[in-house]
Amino acid sequence: MPITHSSQCEICGRGPRVSRQVSHAHNVSKRRQQINVSRHHVVMNGARRFIALCTRCLRSGLVQKAG
Ligand SMILES: [Zn+2]
Repeated sequence: MPITHSSQCEICGRGPRVSRQVSHAHNVSKRRQQINVSRHHVVMNGARRFIALCTRCLRSGLVQKAG
């Protein structure tokens, strides 16, 4: 299990990644692309946990929501 940050999904482990910002004059610079993460109460191994989930894992039904 990777070290979890607030902007990292605790199911798939996806976090911020580096992308490129291209200006109109085509100056290229690095930018951080955040993933859409929100915290939810889920049931894992019969226990209720409050974890950070990306919306992709939430939508794909990879977790069972509690409450
Ligand atoms: Zn995820």
